[in-house]
Amino acid sequence: MRTYLITGANRGIGLAITEQLLARGDKVVATARQPAEAQALAKLAASASGRLVVVELDVASPASIATLPAQLAKADITALDVLINNAGMIGPKRQSTLDMDFDGFAETLAVNTLAPLRVAQVALPLLKAAKGSKILTITSRMGSLSHMTSDRIAYRTSKAAVNKVMQGLSTDLAPEGIVVAVAHPGWVKTDMGGQAAAIEPAESARGLIAVVDGMTSGDVCTFYDYSGQIIPW
Ligand code: NDP
Repeated sequence: MRTYLITGANRGIGLAITEQLLARGDKVVATARQPAEAQALAKLAASASGRLVVVELDVASPASIATLPAQLAKADITALDVLINNAGMIGPKRQSTLDMDFDGFAETLAVNTLAPLRVAQVALPLLKAAKGSKILTITSRMGSLSHMTSDRIAYRTSKAAVNKVMQGLSTDLAPEGIVVAVAHPGWVKTDMGGQAAAIEPAESARGLIAVVDGMTSGDVCTFYDYSGQIIPW
């Protein structure tokens, strides 16, 4: 049984990953901004025999992130095998280069770019306490710099930037034997992806779990998609 920490696990892709990991016998620390409202997680907890721990986390708030170690200690979590930085936002309505909501842009960067690193930093002692631990950050193909498209610039920039952050983290954690990668989850039917999207959350989650399973110590940071294909930076 391995222990996973998944941010933004109360709905969408994070919830689907949580459900599948519990079904195969792993332990999950699922974070939610409002655990009391996280009914889907409460339902999963009822049949998880103590393998699902729900903790409160607003990744936009450094103060909230700082409470994570104490919350994990309280739940007797002393090591983490895998951190999945999944929480994310699409950003403000106005996010083109010629008409930018800059406050919304800053919030998008805080949630999609800075938070995955902040969470990784506070989780580090617990990741070090496990052998061969892994960090997967959910990014987007929209962050690939090889796309010349100009729509959704705040979102694209936040994902391009988190890719760079994770490349750096990968290099810096290699001596610890901790492997870091980023993955595009596909175009997924969630509140963010919309109902016209190509795949169900369960299919994305299956692929992402296989990506994590396949990551091995010594790998350089790779930009995967949910089917395991490599995406150009
Ligand atoms: P959803 O909008 O369905 O869910 C987003 C999740 O992130 C929710 O749990 C939400 O919590 C959480 N979240 C947002 N802001 C914060 C915050 N400040 N603190 C804590 N949690 C927060 O999105 P998806 O499941 O579709 O997306 C998951 C990841 O996949 C994101 O990183 C997204 O960018 C990425 N992605 C998704 C694609 C898609 O097609 N769906 C395509 C490419 C990438 P709450 O319920 O409290 O709002």
